[in-house]
Amino acid sequence: MVCKKCKSVLAADALYCEKCGFPVKKRPAAKKAEMPLAPQALVPLTTAQCVGILLAFCVPVLNLILMLVWAYAPQGNESRRSMARAGLILFGAVLAFAILGLSLFLILADTGFIPFTGTI
Ligand SMILES: [Zn+2]
Repeated sequence: MVCKKCKSVLAADALYCEKCGFPVKKRPAAKKAEMPLAPQALVPLTTAQCVGILLAFCVPVLNLILMLVWAYAPQGNESRRSMARAGLILFGAVLAFAILGLSLFLILADTGFIPFTGTI
């Protein structure tokens, strides 16, 4: 390497020129080698992995266990964590609507607004 300012010869790993102090621009290859690889947790899920996760969410009982584990485990893929949390939110919403709907039906049937003669 040669200094761009004073043209003196520099060491291969020099950051500044020893004679004039001019900063040495790093070569792109050296910069690329220093860049850390993306952690496994930040790698996006593939379409096949998303399909697998959504199919697992269709299995009763197992889905709730997997959602809780994936949503709150300290380690794990960030995309999978987001999918698990979204699944838990939807699960809670569906459960709330089911309870609300059943309660409303029972109240209306009890008060006679809905003619219902079966046993509850
Ligand atoms: Zn120099």
